[in-house]
Amino acid sequence: MVARNMLDALPIPAIFIGEDNRIRRSNKKAQDLLNMRIDGRHYVTALRQPTLLDHIEKTMVEGVAGQVSFIHTEAGRDVVYEVHLERVVTDRDTENGVLLSFMDVKSQEEAGQMRSDFVANVSHELRTPLTALTGFIETLRGPARDDAEARDRFLGIMETEGKRMNRLVADLLSLSRVEDMARIRPTDKVDICAVLNSVRNALSPTADARGVSVSIETELEPPVLVAGDLDQLAQVFTNLIENAIKYGRRDGTVSVMVSRMPMLPAFKGSAICVSVKDDGPGIPGHHLSRLTERFYRVDNHRSRELGGTGLGLAIVKHIINRHRGRLRIESDEGQGSKFTVLLRDDQ
Ligand code: ADP
Repeated sequence: MVARNMLDALPIPAIFIGEDNRIRRSNKKAQDLLNMRIDGRHYVTALRQPTLLDHIEKTMVEGVAGQVSFIHTEAGRDVVYEVHLERVVTDRDTENGVLLSFMDVKSQEEAGQMRSDFVANVSHELRTPLTALTGFIETLRGPARDDAEARDRFLGIMETEGKRMNRLVADLLSLSRVEDMARIRPTDKVDICAVLNSVRNALSPTADARGVSVSIETELEPPVLVAGDLDQLAQVFTNLIENAIKYGRRDGTVSVMVSRMPMLPAFKGSAICVSVKDDGPGIPGHHLSRLTERFYRVDNHRSRELGGTGLGLAIVKHIINRHRGRLRIESDEGQGSKFTVLLRDDQ
């Protein structure tokens, strides 16, 4: 006998049809899917798609298990379910029938599509430096063989392209490491101000090269503690401050502010806010919601010229998610950009 709570225990919509062709049991997910009370109805009036109806009859009469697609419109988009049909026979033949379970294959297809888009993007990103490298190798073997000046110039470009590939591979590895750890919540106590100071020191050559000054301001008493992963938080602020230096104004200022928000409803408690603000050209509003997507760039040419991989903010977002924190991005064109990281206070 198929008990109602047995169907409710399933993570997908499920319907049990008795030999009298009436729906004997269905779980809440199935009722939500069909948007009606279906128990007790003849299955033909609840499931109106002819191929599915044919399959139910076949499974009921011949006892053969089957699979059939069921297309359903939810919130204006088509969702494709794969319905599995299985004949159920009980011990004393008291309640025989057919069990239908609905698997949402569209989500699986989308996940597959995302994976293949990602592979296509990575291949594209790697192909550009690889093409340059192989091209210059050919030139150095052929026409530029005896041209010392050209050789030096080409080797310089080859070095830049080699380093670009290295950065890309390093960023891809760090993205996949962060994804692997997504469910493990970090517990070490990390002093945010100490992290920021060491990131600023490490980036001082980059800042000096662009004449940018980086200031860190706070009214909080150190240490300012959050529960976190030291290396990953250092990576978050390295990416944000490096971007502010790279995309901000030449000879400009990057201001890092650390403050406490006494009550952030999303955290049900207080938050430590770190904002990284530059006085560069800013980012047009319509790009803001997509900035943390992998390989999303506002200005492709400029990002590549500055050695960007297009993965920095995707890594930032994943690390902050792992910390159950929040990232807010604000920007007014011409007024600079501000990236704010909100982390759970651990004082
Ligand atoms: P990239 O490796 O290209 O820097 P990121 O993921 O770090 O990749 O950033 C994505 C894009 O967001 C960049 O290509 C740049 O166009 C834009 N961006 C990031 N930070 C800033 C900023 N502070 N000011 C203006 N644009 C920025």
